[in-house]
Amino acid sequence: MTYDKHYYDGTWQSSTGGETIAVISSATEQEVARVPRGTAEDVDRAVKAARRGFESWRRLPVEERAQWLEKLSAAMKTRVPRIAEAIAHEVGTAIGFATKVQAEFPIMMIGMNAKFIRETKLEEELGNSLVIKEPIGVVGCVTPWNYPLHQVVCKIAPALAAGCAVVLKPAEMAPLSALMLADAAHEIGLPKGVLNVVSGSGRVVGEAIVAHPDVDMVSFTGSLQAGRRIASVAGEGIKKVCLELGGKSAFVVLDDAPFDKAIPAGVNNCMQNSGQTCSAWTRMLVPRSRHDEAVEFAKGQLAKLTLGDPFDKNTRLGPLASAAQRDSVLGFIEQGKKEGATVVAGGGKPANLPTGFYVEPTIFAHVDNKMTIAQEEIFGPVLAIIPYGSEADAIAIANDSQYGLAGGVWGGTNERALEVAKQLRTGQVDINGGRFNALAPFGGYKKSGIGREIGPLAIEEYFQLKSIQR
Ligand code: NAD
Repeated sequence: MTYDKHYYDGTWQSSTGGETIAVISSATEQEVARVPRGTAEDVDRAVKAARRGFESWRRLPVEERAQWLEKLSAAMKTRVPRIAEAIAHEVGTAIGFATKVQAEFPIMMIGMNAKFIRETKLEEELGNSLVIKEPIGVVGCVTPWNYPLHQVVCKIAPALAAGCAVVLKPAEMAPLSALMLADAAHEIGLPKGVLNVVSGSGRVVGEAIVAHPDVDMVSFTGSLQAGRRIASVAGEGIKKVCLELGGKSAFVVLDDAPFDKAIPAGVNNCMQNSGQTCSAWTRMLVPRSRHDEAVEFAKGQLAKLTLGDPFDKNTRLGPLASAAQRDSVLGFIEQGKKEGATVVAGGGKPANLPTGFYVEPTIFAHVDNKMTIAQEEIFGPVLAIIPYGSEADAIAIANDSQYGLAGGVWGGTNERALEVAKQLRTGQVDINGGRFNALAPFGGYKKSGIGREIGPLAIEEYFQLKSIQR
């Protein structure tokens, strides 16, 4: 599975640098592919192609753009097994979850954006003005490795639907599904310059995209640290930015919640994709009087989540994406122990899995919200159970975070859970087991980001407004 070229201007293009990046399997630690290490020159060529592509793409009738998205979605469907396999290697995602959540779901979202743009009102009369939504222009998209295709689709599908052209840089650790997307675009004959993909490092390719004078907007998903840098470089160019950054989401279990349902749901949420999920509920807030009961339920659920080879159908949790990610997570676990939290499950490397970047799913109990493991995004299979006194304390603890991306509340009634949910400073909250909704906007309060993705409202990010008075 090797891609030796970038994709821009409607064709596969050799990199001007000639160097490549190895893609490593998180399970076997072996190289599974190589992709080009792009240069600023590659980016410049791709942005110029996007600018040309934009001029004709934005003029296409909405219906035609919608049909292109449907064709792209159909072409991607034939690639599901290959995408799932690539992501199981790159990220360590268990193959069943990789197939459904990492491949099928984003492919469906491409098609959903066709419907969203058909239903978007592009003109509105306001007094003597005609207010028109126009596509913002060339969008630079920079994405992370944990849900590699999903994060790409969250940006490119609404951007293309709105009439923008895109230059995408996928994560260096997980670039293969983005290149398969380019392959699908090429196969269906998507107009040239509309979707352009340059692989490479954040420092070189990512920064060149963000700083390029012909890029009108930057949509970034990744760490807070990189988001800060990107926002400041984009700020120099007075570019719009959309930032989807980290999280340290709280799951508030109220004293009248059914623990047998709530606690397992909280554990599953935290451990999904081996904890490499920005919206994971990594802090579980439980009433102090029921702390030990919560720990027992949590341990019981964790024991059901088999750790192992991502290609084994019985595996629920695979390895972490890289050696660096594994070492970082193990470092946080040691810090938790040092700061006095109690390990009640896991806590290190599994002895039976010597090859692959595995970390035991780990539960800490008696965690204080001031501890490092309750404040920093660990991005691994680590749950912190935090006892609280009153409901007001629970809300204060949940909000005592620099992040505000997601969260959950489970109470004896929906009404009580809803009242608590309204007081959480975070972009999404699921109450009493509320399911993920592909129409709901997703994004962060506070340092979790700026802007929203997913659903019909995400398209709005890619418009600018023009007022014509008459
Ligand atoms: P990262 O910030 O290291 O990298 C993300 C992307 O940015 C990569 O493609 C990288 O090459 C690029 N990049 C890095 N520095 C850059 C720079 N200076 N200029 C331009 N591009 C640059 O993040 P990661 O390790 O790939 O992903 C994990 C992080 O992503 C976590 O913090 C996680 O919470 C966050 N995340 C957020 C969401 C969300 O929707 N809010 C979703 C998934 C992941």
